[in-house]
Amino acid sequence: MLRENDVSTNGSGADATAADVDFDVVVVGAGFAGMYLLHRLRGLGLSARVIEAGADVGGTWYWNRYPGARCDIQSVDYSYSFDAELDETWQWTEKYAPQPEILRYAQHVADKHDLRRDIQFSTRVESAVWDDNDSRWQLRTSDGNTITSRFYVMATGCLSMPKEVDIAGTDRFTGAVYFTSRWPHEGVDLTGKRVGVIGTGSSAIQSIPVMAAQAAQLTVFQRTPNFSMPANNGPIPQDKLDALAKGRPQYREAARWSGAGVTVDISTTSALAVSDEERLAKYEDVWEHGGIIQVINSYMDHLVNPAANELLCEFVRNKIRATVKDPETAEALCPKTFPIGTKRLCVDTGYYETFNRENVRLVDLRVHPISTITESGIDLVDESLEFDVIVFATGFDAMTGAIVGVDIAGRDGLTLKDAWSEGPKTYLGLMAARFPNLFMITGPGSPSVLSNMMVSIEQHVDWIADCIDNLRSAGLSTIEPTQTAVDGWVQHVNDYADITLMPQANSWYMGANVPGKPRVFLPYAGGVDRYRAICNEIVADDYLGFERRGPSTQRVNDGIVCRVQPDVQLMLEAMAAMNLPTMDSMSASEARDFSNAIAAQRAPGPDVGEIVDGVLPGAGGDLNYRLYRPASPGPHPIVAYFHGGGWVLGSFDSDDPLCRDLCVRSDAIFVSVDYRHAPEVRFPAAADDAFAATQWIADNAAALGGIPGELAVAGWSAGGNLAAIVAQLARDSGGPRLVGQLLLTPVTDSDFSRASYTENADGYVLTTALMRWFWDHYADPDDRISPKAAPIRAESLADLPPAMIVTCEFDPLRDEGDAYAEALAAAGVPVRHLPCHGQIHTSIPAVDMLLSGAPIRAEMAAAIRGFFKARVPA
Ligand SMILES: Cc1cc2nc3c(=O)[nH]c(=O)nc-3n(C[C@H](O)[C@H](O)[C@H](O)COP(=O)(O)OP(=O)(O)OC[C@H]3O[C@@H](n4cnc5c(N)ncnc54)[C@H](O)[C@@H]3O)c2cc1C
Repeated sequence: MLRENDVSTNGSGADATAADVDFDVVVVGAGFAGMYLLHRLRGLGLSARVIEAGADVGGTWYWNRYPGARCDIQSVDYSYSFDAELDETWQWTEKYAPQPEILRYAQHVADKHDLRRDIQFSTRVESAVWDDNDSRWQLRTSDGNTITSRFYVMATGCLSMPKEVDIAGTDRFTGAVYFTSRWPHEGVDLTGKRVGVIGTGSSAIQSIPVMAAQAAQLTVFQRTPNFSMPANNGPIPQDKLDALAKGRPQYREAARWSGAGVTVDISTTSALAVSDEERLAKYEDVWEHGGIIQVINSYMDHLVNPAANELLCEFVRNKIRATVKDPETAEALCPKTFPIGTKRLCVDTGYYETFNRENVRLVDLRVHPISTITESGIDLVDESLEFDVIVFATGFDAMTGAIVGVDIAGRDGLTLKDAWSEGPKTYLGLMAARFPNLFMITGPGSPSVLSNMMVSIEQHVDWIADCIDNLRSAGLSTIEPTQTAVDGWVQHVNDYADITLMPQANSWYMGANVPGKPRVFLPYAGGVDRYRAICNEIVADDYLGFERRGPSTQRVNDGIVCRVQPDVQLMLEAMAAMNLPTMDSMSASEARDFSNAIAAQRAPGPDVGEIVDGVLPGAGGDLNYRLYRPASPGPHPIVAYFHGGGWVLGSFDSDDPLCRDLCVRSDAIFVSVDYRHAPEVRFPAAADDAFAATQWIADNAAALGGIPGELAVAGWSAGGNLAAIVAQLARDSGGPRLVGQLLLTPVTDSDFSRASYTENADGYVLTTALMRWFWDHYADPDDRISPKAAPIRAESLADLPPAMIVTCEFDPLRDEGDAYAEALAAAGVPVRHLPCHGQIHTSIPAVDMLLSGAPIRAEMAAAIRGFFKARVPA
């Protein structure tokens, strides 16, 4: 049971001398997160103590008092929504409120809810150790006291731990030194001073124009330029006021279910799909009237398509070039080393214009690196500069710095630092395995810094408060995520990042600004709305992925919440919304019309050197083929390719994007063969056609532009089945000699008893029912056990060409593909088996739709190149 405790109270903060006390919950940090959590915990009747290093509330806005500090999300959005009265009565004076006003807001909330009496200020939590016997946390604080609590919450902020300066000679400088993140409360008068500013992140970009107006000289030391857009600050825009007037609760609720915690129009158009004029007009509009979220979302593919991203990059660079008069300075200020949006876009007031001032100079550290800081200034490799003041705007050890800044030890003395040595591993960014009852607010693995953080903070606080309440009602005392759940979530966070351009930047999102920090993408890129739905789903599913214990109970609900690749999931959701008929409910010709109609809507794959359609002799007459030739000079090795479609559907059109993609990636000719289809012509016509076509391609390799003897087979699904069978027939018929077989999610057996048929029976496009329908059209039950239908049933699999087999986790055919890979390996065939997590049967050929298949296709192409390189001349 949770215990009630007395907490000492006074007007200006909790009594800092109250030693050796016990609480239901201790919260570290009195920023917006800690403040709201305290309010919620009190509402639940729990005893709570907040420990805060600063002397008052406000967190970020208490510490970051540099000139020009403002929020980058409009204030009406960047504010609490939990208190309707507060929301109605507090009036922001500007679109983007300045730091003093945001701090006043935090103080007003503290006053209104009388929060300070439970906050111990000017105290750091230094260590936290889990006591397994007592199921409590023991915290040691900087005042030498020990506090115990059942629950321990790190509301320590994503951007609260300043990064250590790693420039030689920093201690030598005898002038004044200031950090933007720890700016003196009394302010700094820079009038008449020679000022050097190191860093060009958001804080620098906000403060440089204000400092430049005061200082005698201002020198900006820039390592990497950032993209910044004008705040166009002023009164709250009319469109915001109108939206709020329509209903504040609805407005707030829409923000909670938006992608970034702010209601904006999200484009569903590609930046590449519109004319230059239309795109430019749109960019100008969001530049003038929007904010960072509108700019990035002005087209749907800025964060996933490098070409689309570059269009926006160039628009911003042109803005910089048009503003900064000196062309060399302008060019140095233009970011060129990372896609826009992969670092948080900055918001400024007159930043670029500042470089037109006589008293401002930019030093590009990529050209003139700092060699050391001296007693009187900064030495570059080629110049010595003197300063009265150095301002460090060098950023933060973001997202994890403040958390591992406390020595935290969980079960069996496991330290969080050790557990996270390869990067943070959390469940939902809320908890870590083996650290019971330890919660993090906006922790790594949650949307946090990719969102309007007020929305994310409120969501986490509510989830945590509800969770504690839930445990209490159920008579449970501890909660922690299972290792499986944590591993699954880490994978999901990485999967999401990997389908975006985000990991391409050396950003603090990647931990890249801190030497030695593991390079992993820290926030969750799936969006506030999706993330909220997942958190809710986990609770509705009886806390999926959590282990909860009470005095006499243990409830383990092990599992993974998001297993399908994110883009595949989006595609499945889009298809479900279309409510399409199932193909197994159609006749063969209806199914063909249906699949042809879908294929016709798809974008083509990449350009190849040449495409030639032709006719070749099959086993029962002529067959159409399509040849894809690489752009590089020939001759090339050749891959005979067989399309998917269950022996009933498909054509070289249906697999056209995949063949183009593999042709480009592997630099091999692909000859895609239209074999005869069932039910008009049943087993073994397709296999016979495939073999006859392969023989003809081998015989005519030189005429096709290929290298005679350099021939491999490949196929997807039923085409993979045919490729495997061709490899066996070629072996048994004394040729043609094949150097490799690439089998993508192949049919290798006709046995439906393997687990993947039951586990993935429905919901992943290829269903078990549809597989039965295909077999029924193709082959009689007696024929299905022939190796010419089920290649895994061959008497021997020895002496077959090297194979690459790709199987997908959510595919009824997964287990038979796995089994074929194992059987080939057991027979001594060199096999590269690539099981693809989170993928479905149709993912990998969806070249034009799914980004997560691209690395797999790259591996397939590498295998094809390997087939040809590994060939030993006969
Ligand atoms: C300059 C700047 C501008 C920003 N602008 C925006 C914006 O416009 N929009 C947006 O969404 N986000 C913005 N952010 C992010 C901002 O951090 C969050 O919006 C929000 O204020 C975080 O609140 P928090 O309570 O989670 O953390 P914080 O406000 O960082 O508070 C954490 C508190 O924990 C305390 N603490 C940490 N470790 C310990 C310890 N061991 N012992 C005791 N106390 C400890 C710190 O002293 C700090 O006061 C900005 C950040 C910065 C730095």
